[in-house]
Amino acid sequence: MATDNATEKVKCLIIGSGPAGYTAAIYAARANLAPVLYTGLQQGGQLTTTTEVENFPGYPEGVTGPVMMEDMQRQAARFGADIRFGIVAGVDLSGPPHRATLDDGNSIEADAVIIATGATARYLGLPSEEQFRGSGVSACATCDGFFYRGKDVAVVGGGDTACEEAIYLAGLCREVYLIVRKNYLRASKVMQQRVFSAPNIKVLFEHDTAELFGSTTGLEGARLVYRRGAPDEETREIRVDGFFLAIGHTPNTSIFKEFLHLDEGGYIITDGASTRTNVPGVFAAGDVMDPTYRQGITSAASGCKAAIDAERYLAGL
Ligand code: FAD
Ligand code: NAP
Repeated sequence: MATDNATEKVKCLIIGSGPAGYTAAIYAARANLAPVLYTGLQQGGQLTTTTEVENFPGYPEGVTGPVMMEDMQRQAARFGADIRFGIVAGVDLSGPPHRATLDDGNSIEADAVIIATGATARYLGLPSEEQFRGSGVSACATCDGFFYRGKDVAVVGGGDTACEEAIYLAGLCREVYLIVRKNYLRASKVMQQRVFSAPNIKVLFEHDTAELFGSTTGLEGARLVYRRGAPDEETREIRVDGFFLAIGHTPNTSIFKEFLHLDEGGYIITDGASTRTNVPGVFAAGDVMDPTYRQGITSAASGCKAAIDAERYLAGL
C-alpha cells in the first residue's frame, strides 16, 4: 500500500530530545502549545553517552545520564508533550508556517519551531579511542574531570577550549599533558599564559596521538608520535588515566544553514539574550546556539527560554 505523505499542522514543533528539547517541551506543554517533539537518532541527547552526571542540580547523589534523560522525557510526557522517535531530514523556514520533512517522508507544519539539535564533539577517529570512550576517553573535562582527581591525564588540542580544560584539570589532577599538533598554541595569549604558568601542565608541542592503550578496566596511556614525518620523528609513550578531546565541536545545523544566520563555527546566532533566530517563529536552544558553556543545565535553561519566547511569539506579544 502506498504511504500518504501527509502534512500535519501543529502550533509548536521541537527538534531534538536533549536537555534543551525536553525542557522546551515541558514548558511548551504547560503553556498549552501542544508541542510535538522529534527525538532524532540519539534519543535523550549527548548525556545518554555518559555514566555519572554529578553537576545537574536536583540530584544530590548524582544520576546516570540515561536515567536523567528518561526522567526529563517522562516529565515532558506527563504534561502532554507528543514525543515521537523520528529525524528531521530537511526544513523550509520560509513561512510561517514553517515546514519540516521527516525521514519517513511525511511533513509537519508548525507556527513556531524550537531547534535543539545540539552539537557533536569531534574525536580523532582512532579505533582505540572508541574502545575507551567512557572508561578514560572524554570530550568534556568539566563533566568528567572529577573522576580523575590526583591522577595523570592528557588533553588534545591547542585552542582556547584545550587550554581551559587543561587549566581546569590542573586544579584536580597530578599531571596534565597538553598534546598539541603544531609548534604553537592557537589559544588566546591570556590562556596561553595561564597554561605556561601552571606547574603541573606539560605542553607537548608537535605531538600526534597514534594510539591509546589500556586494559578491560580502562585507559592506561597513549602512544604519541613526535614530529611525524621529520628526520627526528620519534614515538613516545605517556601514562594517563584520562584522555580529553578538545579539538572542537560541530553544531548540528547543516539542515538549517540555508535559512538561519550561523556564526563562523556553524552555531545558530540568536538575538541578544533571547533564543530568537533571524527567522520569525524559529527559536534555538542548547548547544546548537552555545559555543561557550555547553552544559546540561545551560541547555535546559535555554530550552525553557525558547518555549517562553515561542509562547510570546504565538500570543503576538
Ligand atoms: P544534545 O544533548 O546534544 O541533544 C541533541 C538532540 O538533538 C538529540 O536528541 C539528537 O537526537 C537531536 N537531533 C539532532 N539532529 C536532529 C534531527 N535532524 N532531527 C531530530 N533530532 C535531531 N553536561 C553536564 O552538564 N554535565 C555532565 O556531566 C556532562 N557530561 C557529558 C559527558 C559527555 C560524554 C558529553 C559528550 C557531554 C556531557 N555534557 C555534560 C554536556 C551535555 O551533554 C550537553 O551540554 C547537553 O546534552 C546539550 O544539550 P542539548 O539539548 O543542547 O543537545
Ligand atoms: P579551535 O579554536 O578550533 O581549536 C581547536 C584545536 O584543536 C586547534 O588547536 C586545532 O589544531 C586542534 N585540532 C583540531 N583537529 C585536530 C586533530 N585532528 N588532532 C589534533 N589537534 C586537532 O576550537 P576551540 O578551542 O573549541 O574554540 C572554539 C571557539 O571558542 C574559538 O573561537 C575559541 O576562541 C572560543 N573559546 C573561547 C574560550 C574563552 O575565551 N574562554 C574558551 C573556549 C573556547 P590547529 O591549531 O593545529 O588547527
